[in-house]
Amino acid sequence: MLVSACGRDEKAKSEELPESSVSTAQAAPASPTNTDVNHNGIPDAEDNDWPGKMIPDYQAATSPDAVRGRDLIQQAHLLEDMADSINESLKLPFDIPLIGKQCDTANAFWDPNDNTVTICYEDAADGLDIYTKAGDADPRASAINAEVATFYHETGHMVVSIYDLPATGREEDVADQLSAYILLTPGPDGKADPDNIRAVKDFAREFEGYADAGGEVDDDALADTHSPNKTRMYNLECWVYGSDPEANADLVGGDQLPQDRADGCQEEYEKMSHAWDTLLAPYLK
Ligand SMILES: [Zn+2]
Repeated sequence: MLVSACGRDEKAKSEELPESSVSTAQAAPASPTNTDVNHNGIPDAEDNDWPGKMIPDYQAATSPDAVRGRDLIQQAHLLEDMADSINESLKLPFDIPLIGKQCDTANAFWDPNDNTVTICYEDAADGLDIYTKAGDADPRASAINAEVATFYHETGHMVVSIYDLPATGREEDVADQLSAYILLTPGPDGKADPDNIRAVKDFAREFEGYADAGGEVDDDALADTHSPNKTRMYNLECWVYGSDPEANADLVGGDQLPQDRADGCQEEYEKMSHAWDTLLAPYLK
C-alpha cells in the first residue's frame, strides 16, 4: 500500500497525545529544553540565545529502493539545502537532526520525542516512479521538488511542536499549508521563486499519483488523520492558484481545480498566509 507523503511517526504521535491535549487546554508556552533559552518560549527580537541548528545526516541504505532514493537525494544535496534554508530563516531552541534513512516504507516524519525530521529514502524513489509513470521529461527533478515540499510539510509539524503554536484544525492539513506558505511566499522582488512554485505543483501531482494508484477512497482513508490524496492535491493547487491567479491559470479546469473552488482560492491563500505570518513572526531570523 502506498503511504501518503507524510505521516508523522504513529507511535510518537500516540505517545504525545495526552501531553498535547493538556498544553492546548492551558495554552502553555513552549518550554525548550536548552537552558540558554528564554523562559517564556519566545525569543526576543534580537535574541542570539536560541542556539539551535538543523543538521543534515545521511544514514546508510541497503535495499535497492533506499539506495535509489538516497542517491537521488544526496546528489541533489537536498538535506544540506533544506537545513541551510531553515538555519537562515528560523530560530531554533535546540539542534534538530534532519535524517535521511532507509525506513522500508515510503514516508517522512517529524518525531516530537527526539526532535528529529526524517526523510525516508524510499519516499524519493516512490516519487521517481510516480513521475516516470506520468511521463515527466525530468522525473528526477520532479521527485526532488516533491521531497522539498514534503520536507516543508514536516517543518509544519516541527514548528507547531517546538514553538507550541496554537494551530487549530487537523495538523496534517496545517502541515500542507505551511509547506505551501513557505514555498509560495514572494521574495524581495515581490515574486515567488518559480522553482518553489514548481515544487508545490509537483507535490500536488504526487498526491494525484497516490490517488490513481490507491483506487477508490474507502472509509479508512476518509477517517485518516491525512485528508484523502485527491483533497490534498486540490488544496495545494488552490493555494498555488490563489497566490497568483494570473500566473497559475493553468491550474483551473479539466482534471484540475473546478471553477467553484478556484473562485475562493485567492482569499483562502491570503488568510492562510496572514495566519502563518502572524504565527511565525516571533521565530523568524
Ligand atoms: Zn504530516
